Amino acid sequence: MKSMKKLFLLLIIVGLVAGGIFYFRDTAPPQLSLTPESGPISKKTKLLLSLNDGGMGIKNVQVTVIQGTNRTPLLKRDFPPQTNVVDLELDLSALKLQQAGLQIEVSATDQSIYHLGKGNTSQQLFTLNYDTRAPIISLLSKAHNFTKGGSGLVLFALNEEVESTGVVFGDYFFPAYQLESGNYACLLAYPYNVKESDFIPRIMARDLAGNERQLGIYFRAKNKKFRQRKINISDQFLAQKIPEFEDLAPDVSDPVDIFLYVNQTVRQQNRDQIAEFSRNTAAEPLWNGPFLRQPQAASLARFADYRTYYYKGKEIDKQVHLGQDLASVVQAEIVAGNSGVVVWAEYLGIYGLCVIIDHGLGLQSLYAHMSQLDVEPGDVVTRGQILGRSGATGMAGGDHLHLGILVSGVPVQPIEWWDGHWLRDNIDSKLKSN
Ligand SMILES: [Zn+2]
Repeated sequence: MKSMKKLFLLLIIVGLVAGGIFYFRDTAPPQLSLTPESGPISKKTKLLLSLNDGGMGIKNVQVTVIQGTNRTPLLKRDFPPQTNVVDLELDLSALKLQQAGLQIEVSATDQSIYHLGKGNTSQQLFTLNYDTRAPIISLLSKAHNFTKGGSGLVLFALNEEVESTGVVFGDYFFPAYQLESGNYACLLAYPYNVKESDFIPRIMARDLAGNERQLGIYFRAKNKKFRQRKINISDQFLAQKIPEFEDLAPDVSDPVDIFLYVNQTVRQQNRDQIAEFSRNTAAEPLWNGPFLRQPQAASLARFADYRTYYYKGKEIDKQVHLGQDLASVVQAEIVAGNSGVVVWAEYLGIYGLCVIIDHGLGLQSLYAHMSQLDVEPGDVVTRGQILGRSGATGMAGGDHLHLGILVSGVPVQPIEWWDGHWLRDNIDSKLKSN
């Protein structure tokens, strides 16, 4: 009888312990997070609510949107047992919301029996800013004259902070930079290969909530015809260049195929890489007055010469020459066209030994085929400073300088930037008026 009593007591203790373990097994409430969890949002913003309960799983969630004294239930959801992870997209587009601050209250409970069966509840309040108004763009510059292959500048003001702003047309985007005055300057190109009918530049501004506006500008675009040029690839040229090109085309053996690989594939890779350099730019103009052409240099191939390549009388390739070739003496001193910061000073495929200088606002100058480099990336250079010496490295038959000017990675006519009148009327006067 006594042993029965003992067993009974033991069973009660075991039961209590087991029940206790079960009761206290899950005392942690679900974890919840909202993305974005603060800042400006618009009707279009995707709000992602993530719930996580490592214990017995999530039982339910309730979401309420609060603006002032208005509380609007947005969502109520129950979940089956062992739902440990839940991702929900919150859609505010059906709600009538004011352009003002907004709070999102999230309450989530787990399946635990803790708190006398009520489970563990997390409640969190997220404070956001509801904004559905796109930035207002005020155009400040006048006289937007563009020549095909050339550059231009647009100056404007915005009434709010933005995530992104610049000039757009087709697939092109030219970023604008905020000047000290608070206004925005955008250097853009009328690319040599864009049709007149496709060149319709518009200012774009997108605020932090994702609201976007585009504004057309008054402009005049002048067409320009570029030259056609024949280039004969001789065996002599190949014999001279192939040893250098073999490094660039390791899997090709025939000399003409090596040439074609470098002229096509490597050229494209180099251009893509150069376009990337434009991100590494100062948010202010670093140039000072017109660009220097090289002293005493004769003009050879021009910007946007359309070249057809022949080998033994047979057409083998077509490319466009996107710089100005200049030549004087062999190993001539090459000078910086203007003040800026060196962003590249190294071998670069078809450009051979090459220097790229950033002049701010996305404007960069490129000096190719050099034989000697006297500067390093990060060097601050002044207009006329010696960068090194000319040569024939890369895709060059003889000693000359290939000079490129780029606007946010898009090659443009250097000739405009050498012209003091053009520069004053189209670029500098707009920046000075600011
Ligand atoms: Zn060239």
